[in-house]
Amino acid sequence: MSNPQARILALREQLDSYNYQYYVADAPTVPDAEYDRLMRELLALEQAHPELMDPDSPTRKVGGTPVSAFPEVRHALPMLSLDNVFSDDELTAFEKRLMDRLGRTEPLDFCCEPKLDGLAVSLVYEQGRLVQAATRGDGSTGEGITENVRTIKAVPLRLKGQGWPARLEVRGEVYMPRAGFDEMNERARAEGGKIFANPRNAAAGSLRQLDSRITARRPLAFYCYGVGLVEGGPPGDCHFDILQQLKGWGLPVCPEIRRMQGRSGCQAYHDDILARREQLPYEIDGVVYKVDELALQQQLGFVARAPRWATAHKFPAQEQLTRLLHVEFQV
Ligand code: NAD
Repeated sequence: MSNPQARILALREQLDSYNYQYYVADAPTVPDAEYDRLMRELLALEQAHPELMDPDSPTRKVGGTPVSAFPEVRHALPMLSLDNVFSDDELTAFEKRLMDRLGRTEPLDFCCEPKLDGLAVSLVYEQGRLVQAATRGDGSTGEGITENVRTIKAVPLRLKGQGWPARLEVRGEVYMPRAGFDEMNERARAEGGKIFANPRNAAAGSLRQLDSRITARRPLAFYCYGVGLVEGGPPGDCHFDILQQLKGWGLPVCPEIRRMQGRSGCQAYHDDILARREQLPYEIDGVVYKVDELALQQQLGFVARAPRWATAHKFPAQEQLTRLLHVEFQV
């Protein structure tokens, strides 16, 4: 690289513009694999040249700026992104980093979850009633979309059972199941309406509507995968147990979530879900591993835009897969 500084500046500008198209306009202009490739190039350059680091770099930021048409919602705890691993070696390195930091030799328990391809939301329940829903936005401030979320059948307006805290913040993904997405696009084709590129953009575009009657007509669904600020503390000592508790209160939790041990358990989970990816009724772009014990999560803490105790193991993008298979056939 003859001029790393110029390349870094060019990459930042390009990624900022892709972020705007993706997070604010819900209309990405490049495939995710290309975006991920450029982001990794920028990360590597910034690591090699720490003197060129900038706190406003896209490598340090979460999501996009909230749109002013929606009321602003300040998150009581930041809504972060996830770091990624793309290979077996990177998964091994992830586990080693955790073990070294914790000074452990015993394998860790992980909560393994599909990485749903939708939009992160925060739901606040007070006295068991849904009182606020917001997008992740830039991680600190999101967009208030309570009325829109109220139209999603999978989101309970009141919690079931007993023992829920006076204030419970749940976090999860609003997504569009494949069947609903195909049907919606078919109808749009017939009626000359808007065609969405993929279920992720369809979910994001449907949820960030100013008229909740439009959202109500879109086939959106929801799974929760964590909690934010909870009065009296999180309802459990382990992430997996917390999700079971949320399920008990009537909140939908993905049935594919498993507790697994160590790197080999994570890899087995990854391979199983990857093999069944096309049969799942929703799109996923990988799996997520989260250190299960909350006390260990606390010890591990966070880096700029993601927790240290979790990572997404991304699947090869569909378009890359096709190219790979094509090359293999040619050789
Ligand atoms: P991410 O997709 O890398 O990971 C974090 C998100 O994963 C969370 O916010 C949540 O929404 C989601 N998630 C799904 N299942 C989850 C689970 N079980 N537990 C926790 N979180 C779960 O998030 P990001 O920071 O929004 O986006 C970065 C990615 O988005 C990039 O890697 C790229 O693929 C894509 N992107 C593409 C473009 C483009 O122009 N094509 C632009 C920006 C981002």
